[in-house]
Amino acid sequence: MATVLTLAGDGIGPEIMTQAVAVLKAVNEKFELGLTLEEGDLGGAAIDRAGVPLPEDTLQKARAADAVLLGAVGGPKWDGIERSIRPERGLLKIRSELGLFANLRVAKLYPQLANASSLKPEIISGLDLLIVRELTGGIYFGEPRGIRTLENGEQQGYNTMVYKTSEIERIGKVAFELAKIRAKANGTAAKICSVDKANVLEVTELWKQTMIKLQQSEYPEVELSHMYADNACMQLVRDPKQFDVMVTGNMFGDILSDEAAMLTGSIGMLPSASLDENGKGMYEPCHGSAPDIAGQDKANPLATILSVAMMLRYTFKHEVSAAAIEQAVSDVLDDGLRTGDIMDSDETGLTLVGCKQMGEAVLAKLG
Ligand code: NAD
Repeated sequence: MATVLTLAGDGIGPEIMTQAVAVLKAVNEKFELGLTLEEGDLGGAAIDRAGVPLPEDTLQKARAADAVLLGAVGGPKWDGIERSIRPERGLLKIRSELGLFANLRVAKLYPQLANASSLKPEIISGLDLLIVRELTGGIYFGEPRGIRTLENGEQQGYNTMVYKTSEIERIGKVAFELAKIRAKANGTAAKICSVDKANVLEVTELWKQTMIKLQQSEYPEVELSHMYADNACMQLVRDPKQFDVMVTGNMFGDILSDEAAMLTGSIGMLPSASLDENGKGMYEPCHGSAPDIAGQDKANPLATILSVAMMLRYTFKHEVSAAAIEQAVSDVLDDGLRTGDIMDSDETGLTLVGCKQMGEAVLAKLG
């Protein structure tokens, strides 16, 4: 029997998780998926209980589970504590302990929310872009790192950006494979854009060369292009529909995926998946713990609910239940239900709802 570990986390985490778990339980029953749900803590909640952001019992449960569903971690309460045990460290650690090296973020514009984007409709309509980010290497994990005092007494901060060929090949394969799957589903040509800074960073020169070799040896049918990270930032707002799959390292991926998220108008709509080599994954919304609205029933639970759909698709290979959830989300948007983050006061026929009501509406659509 397969197990899903839920980690609600902090801030709006428990509110959005309640709604996502209700949806997961409903599809579990409806489609007889046979999933068992377990709970654990991570981030600030774990610091409060166990003194560390990723307690050993949580890690054990996560290792034993087939998939992990996460809300969000962090908040002002823990901002002042020592850096090495801050909530976000728990997140970085669980990703690396589980070997979740591939982060997938879809930036998709729901037609019902076309007005939510700050870009003109003709630039953004129909956007459906996938960013594949390397998650367990690069500058966020490279050693040496730290802050040291120089001979003249001045302080110097330093980090190291490192990638081995095997790490680049591993993430490259994920991107090439997904480009093929998406192309087949959409009836288009498969293409990926590899983002680097090969003009100034040797580590990304190796990245670029490795992607070229991979394409030539294993994926000649997939079109491969390259773009410098700074240009990619500009192109994402100038003409985002030129991209289908973007693949990049940890730091550039962090920045580009947040930028892509904003193209769609609300970070409250965007799910993500982080996968290991065997398809085990951690699924979470792209947003953080939103302390400014926590506990007020204002959070949009749809990104977490859509993360459940990703989990069913990528880890449990159950397309029908994944598609059912996505359809239910689209249906509630069609009905005009909106949480505050996706509300457009100029549009008629919309109803402002809270987190709970939005979750219940999705459940009702699922029947
Ligand atoms: P954030 O994503 O939490 O919030 C940014 C803005 O978006 C806020 O105005 C918030 O109210 C809004 N927002 C976010 N999610 C929403 C939702 N579901 N519905 C409606 N509105 C939503 O980013 P931040 O303010 O930079 O960070 C807050 C905390 O979250 C920090 O402690 C940060 O470290 C943490 N964080 C955690 C994760 C994670 O757990 N994966 C990711 C990013 C930030």
